[in-house]
Amino acid sequence: MPRSRRLLGALALASLLPAAAGAAAPLSPAAARLQAYLRLDTTNPPGNEGIAAAWLARELAGAGIAVERYVSGAGRVNLVARLRANSTPTGGAIALLHHMDVVPAGEGWSVAPFGGEVRDGMLWGRGALDCKSLGIAHLEAMLALARSDLPRHRDLLLVAVADEEAGGGEGTAALWERHPGLFADVALLLNEGGANKAVLGRHLLWGIEVAQKRPLWLEVSAKGRPGHAAGIQLGSAVHQLVAGLARLVERPPVWKIDPAARAYLAAIGRLDPNLGRLEADLDEVIAPDGPRRAIPPGLPSLFLDSLQVTVLAAGEEINSIPAEARARIDIRLLPSTDTDAYLAGVREALGKEIETRVLLAAPPSEPTPASGPLWERLVAALADEAPVIPIFLAGITDSRYFRERGVAAYGFSPFWVEAEPMRGVHGPDERIPLDAFDRGVERMRRVVESLLATP
Ligand SMILES: [Zn+2]
Repeated sequence: MPRSRRLLGALALASLLPAAAGAAAPLSPAAARLQAYLRLDTTNPPGNEGIAAAWLARELAGAGIAVERYVSGAGRVNLVARLRANSTPTGGAIALLHHMDVVPAGEGWSVAPFGGEVRDGMLWGRGALDCKSLGIAHLEAMLALARSDLPRHRDLLLVAVADEEAGGGEGTAALWERHPGLFADVALLLNEGGANKAVLGRHLLWGIEVAQKRPLWLEVSAKGRPGHAAGIQLGSAVHQLVAGLARLVERPPVWKIDPAARAYLAAIGRLDPNLGRLEADLDEVIAPDGPRRAIPPGLPSLFLDSLQVTVLAAGEEINSIPAEARARIDIRLLPSTDTDAYLAGVREALGKEIETRVLLAAPPSEPTPASGPLWERLVAALADEAPVIPIFLAGITDSRYFRERGVAAYGFSPFWVEAEPMRGVHGPDERIPLDAFDRGVERMRRVVESLLATP
């Protein structure tokens, strides 16, 4: 074989080999950053967000961006970076918020949850979707803007918080309480909570979260006389608690139409004829004792205050009566539900022997309007790919701390991820497809550029 032919053959073989061996293409700079971020174990509790904040601070300082760290009362670290406008400011700042903490990995993983492993074209690890990928998209947008000479008519804030997964008391809530001036000039917050729909590679819609439910987390407890289980004690702490909880969970649910649910169905009903028909008949279909006809799965939580007893704690020994029994209850209220009235109903059902302590509550807040110049900018940046729909989220995010103070907040995810990988959120094998991640990072950069470019 002539030398040149041999060389060509070797080259062809070399180009085939990596694919044949299944070796992965090198990661993009953004994906390499996400991999590094996923390897920082910020499981909450205890959070340990300081290591994530230090890492983010190094990445930002490398681009000359000013960073401040704010430590909460319990020593948890939050980070705020500000990139100043470089052109005549024409409006308040845009803030990009994500949480650095993640929920515990739990069982059932096929990879190490903090290994940042690449497998099957995806990056695996706790936080890959919720929500370190969003944090890296925010970071990349800020770094790109700092490097470019594009006009910025607004300041840009990157906010990385602790403790979101446990309610945000040491994170966003602490920032607002201890440094109330920090967000004084913020015109719009972008945060997690967006829900985009992709089916079989088709992008159906961008769901931008504008309203959400409110948490009411309770700890309830009963006390009684401890003793040997052979004694007769009908009113023991455990018996009181079990009876009280039974009365509570057996109350019939009360269905109601919240303005946020109506607005969501009106928006999505324009794309989905089934939901459009439901919206048209909503007042006939949703009755206080339940829907008059079957409604799609996923929708009931938009018409109900939900209540789940999630933690039970009492004795340790089968033959000893404990002095105390406790339970924790996760309640999610509709935006228009009155917290005090709901709580009074819970106390009445539990009975007066049972003590109730509020662990987390949120005042009512108005949805962020899906209108105005910043909404229009967001829609213009996204609508080429799919319709943009304002959505009502049954979950909770830190956006409520902004909305309850009158600051506009949108839940926006730049990523298209199909239903199967989405199951990893708070479950085993959380992962993000690398192509969806890289495209989302690029999209976030375009969106942020466009929000700051408003002359
Ligand atoms: Zn999250």
